[in-house]
Amino acid sequence: METSDKKRILIVEDEAQISRFLQLELEYENYSASVCADGREALGLALENDFDLIILDVMLPSLNGIEVLRRLRQSKQTPVIILTARDQVVDKVTGLDIGADDYMTKPFAIEELLARIRLHTKRAAAPASALSCGKLSVNSEARVATYDGHTIDLTKKEFDLLEYLMKNRNIVVGREKLLDAVWGFDFYGSTNVVDVYIRYLRSKIDDVYGVELIETVRGAGYVIR
Ligand code: CA
Repeated sequence: METSDKKRILIVEDEAQISRFLQLELEYENYSASVCADGREALGLALENDFDLIILDVMLPSLNGIEVLRRLRQSKQTPVIILTARDQVVDKVTGLDIGADDYMTKPFAIEELLARIRLHTKRAAAPASALSCGKLSVNSEARVATYDGHTIDLTKKEFDLLEYLMKNRNIVVGREKLLDAVWGFDFYGSTNVVDVYIRYLRSKIDDVYGVELIETVRGAGYVIR
């Protein structure tokens, strides 16, 4: 068993050349890196161990990466970066929807992957706190949001967005800043994704409880008051 305080990363990739390269790079950066080439096996490892982050290829034998992620998210919130092929836009969107923290398109620059790993392992290790605003409450440690005691069913990204707005409550946060904070500093999509997720949050909170918690500040961004 690993006894040092190195961060533990699981590399799930069936192309031996890529996984070996990633393992060497990560070990050089002082991470403890385990490798797995099979989807079903990877799911078992991810459920049994508490990795700090998982790099998950989509095309895998026995169980594809999307399915591994879907099943993992039923019980664990380990940060996951999915690896997709350049033409697999659907995988990227599906992956983010079901709770991937980030994605990389192959072939990728190792420096960029390392930067994203630093970002996501840092966020996961941030101290937990309970935030509240009126009847809305967000528990970062349990990753549960409630309104008047009722649990709000949120995806990973929806939760991250709500949590960030709650941490900055009464402060207007711009779309770019939300994009950086929730999707990663070099996410290549448009800021429209923020508007889409704000709509999801409103449909699950404002619309359900008849409140207007998430306010749009024209030309500036969003705020929870
Ligand atoms: Ca593969």
